[in-house]
Amino acid sequence: MHIIYTDQHKLHATDQVEYEGHPFVTDEVPARIEIILSAARAAGLGSVSAPTDRGLDPLFAAHHIDFVTFLRDIYAESAAALGNAAPVFPSTFPARPIRRRSNSVYGRAGYYAFGAGSPILEGTWAAAYWSAQCALTAADLVQTREPTAYALCRPPGHHAAADLYGGYCYLNNAAIAARYLQAVSPVRAKIAILDMDYHHGNGTQEIFYADPSVLYCSLHAHPDDDYPYFWGGADERGEGPGEGYNRNWPLPQKTDDAHYLAALDEALAFVQDFAPRYLVVSAGFDIAVGDPVGGFGVTVEGMRAVGQHIAALSRGVPTVLVQEGGYLLEKLGENAVAFLQAFV
Ligand SMILES: [Zn+2]
Repeated sequence: MHIIYTDQHKLHATDQVEYEGHPFVTDEVPARIEIILSAARAAGLGSVSAPTDRGLDPLFAAHHIDFVTFLRDIYAESAAALGNAAPVFPSTFPARPIRRRSNSVYGRAGYYAFGAGSPILEGTWAAAYWSAQCALTAADLVQTREPTAYALCRPPGHHAAADLYGGYCYLNNAAIAARYLQAVSPVRAKIAILDMDYHHGNGTQEIFYADPSVLYCSLHAHPDDDYPYFWGGADERGEGPGEGYNRNWPLPQKTDDAHYLAALDEALAFVQDFAPRYLVVSAGFDIAVGDPVGGFGVTVEGMRAVGQHIAALSRGVPTVLVQEGGYLLEKLGENAVAFLQAFV
């Protein structure tokens, strides 16, 4: 299996940030990806290579140009406007109808964000850009010859919508990969996105909500229990021509191996019926028991079975694995390898 990785993610240095005079505390830290990479190397899961640069155009297939430009420029604009370089932490969000768009740094950041907790640091744009390029390179590999490629993306992406960032996500790597696979296919290829992260992938859902060419299936914490709260119900089935091509499995807290796998098999049956040309998996390992950001109880053996069930379906369907969440650092390598081994 090809593993696509770049150390550019370290530029999103969330472990070295101060917020209002105190260390900024977050679970989404650079160590996550380094832990997975060394565990994958130690387990001999495949060759590791750097992403190639496909430029900005593939990003515009999933995101608005003004949003991408904002992500690219806001840190420097903030530094110029405020007279000193500092992380951009919006704290005011247009949650109700608004009368105007503000040109101020915090007005613009608040407009494009749906929550706090996802600061824009000096290196955030570079890290997010190269994270998306990892997904694109993995998509290129499966489009040309490989059955599976694993994009070791950081920052993650599935909470980012066409013009919204939040939940540690800036650019939606899975959506960018899906759109790219369609763009390079001779006919508009059908893509299934299976999102196994503990959290609902609200960004991915919204990007494809009216699109019948992309099936989005997600297993996640019930929105009455956990983030992102305002999306993820079983009744969210898509709209317009996309009606029926969005499927959610909100699951209770402490969901164990057996119940997770039962829901996964239902989702995989939908994917199979859809008969996609490609499969994109939003691979979040925060379903693991003990994850500090999660609430499920999936064991290492459960994680292995999740990988096996997906891999069984994906035989014959070229598959891009896109790294999303996973924050239990002590077990992250073991959980990742257990999942990934099925695809080797
Ligand atoms: Zn998550």
